[in-house]
Amino acid sequence: MAKRDYYEVLGLQKGASEAEIKKAYRKVAIKYHPDKNPDNPEAEERFKEAAEAYEVLSDAQKRQQYDQFGHAGMGGAGGFGGGGMNMDDIFSQFGDIFGGGGGSPFDSFFGGGGGGRRPRQRQGTNLRIKLKLTLEEMAHGVEKKIKVKRQDSCESCGGNGSKNGNSLRTCPTCHGTGQVQKVVNTMLGQMRSASTCPSCNGAGQMVDQHCDSCHGSGVKTKEEVITVKIPAGVSEGMQLSMSGKGNAPKGGGIPGDLLIVIEEVAHEELKREGNNVVYELYINFADAALGTHVEVPTIDGKVKIRIDAGTQSGKILRLRGKGIKDINGYQTGDQLIHVNVWTPQTLSKEEKEILEKLREADNFKPDPAKKEKGFFERMREFF
Ligand SMILES: [Zn+2]
Ligand SMILES: [Zn+2]
Repeated sequence: MAKRDYYEVLGLQKGASEAEIKKAYRKVAIKYHPDKNPDNPEAEERFKEAAEAYEVLSDAQKRQQYDQFGHAGMGGAGGFGGGGMNMDDIFSQFGDIFGGGGGSPFDSFFGGGGGGRRPRQRQGTNLRIKLKLTLEEMAHGVEKKIKVKRQDSCESCGGNGSKNGNSLRTCPTCHGTGQVQKVVNTMLGQMRSASTCPSCNGAGQMVDQHCDSCHGSGVKTKEEVITVKIPAGVSEGMQLSMSGKGNAPKGGGIPGDLLIVIEEVAHEELKREGNNVVYELYINFADAALGTHVEVPTIDGKVKIRIDAGTQSGKILRLRGKGIKDINGYQTGDQLIHVNVWTPQTLSKEEKEILEKLREADNFKPDPAKKEKGFFERMREFF
């Protein structure tokens, strides 16, 4: 089944604000919440679909990526976001939206018994790396292996920092919920408010004996080689994110993302302008006047083109479709060839004599009125 557009899932327009996204998600999530729709697989699907849409649209980076790449892009660079959230993920990541005890109007729907309340998961930090790509790699897409130094979850203890991973006990302060409730007297009467448990920092558990391998931190620095698929059409400054490939948080939790920022390596001969590629061609005066064939570089290798007799300096030739494929895959740019007629800077005596004769010829007088009207010419190619 084709995936629905995330904006459509939440009933939003593409330019929706953060607040609108949150509001829309709340609305859909409440409507299809499993507590209100027991044993209704369709509601569960809608609930998950909305959570997935919210996961992407509420994260500026993922949203930008989705806006640029669509669903195709969400899976392409190695599995960010897209698809397959289970109920636990939804509650642990977006529990807040159901009113995490802060007295929001949604408490009545989702507070307490709904199964949505569990200790908040810690989130690791994002890792940002720069990736240099040649024009050819950006044009065609490429698979790159990148070496990344990241904080990974400790294998000996599984990330919780306790000896053998099982030397834990339930936090006596919060009894494992990770939160403490306070009753505050206000003008409006008694209000309950929740805050992160100070004894366990919200983990709900405490370590009795520390893990020998990570000394209780739950993380170890690891060098990892990660394969990244770069889609065709990326450009300088674009950012791809791979979820879960950033740093693992201390004491266990959800790892951050790996952010890959694209940098363009300058090409020796070709220049990029949007999805077009520009080449400055220099030909001598005789070739411009008599016509010739020349080889020009393109991102797909050398191509032979014809220079018509009587070509003016400044003419632009176009190699259709020889530019860069649009990141959304709809169009491909062209290669533009700027023709420059080269004037010799030193002359031999013999050359001077020939030119002196030509100087007087009627045919050599500039006559811009005769210049072709269609200065932008479609090119024929000779391979
Ligand atoms: Zn606690
Ligand atoms: Zn450990």
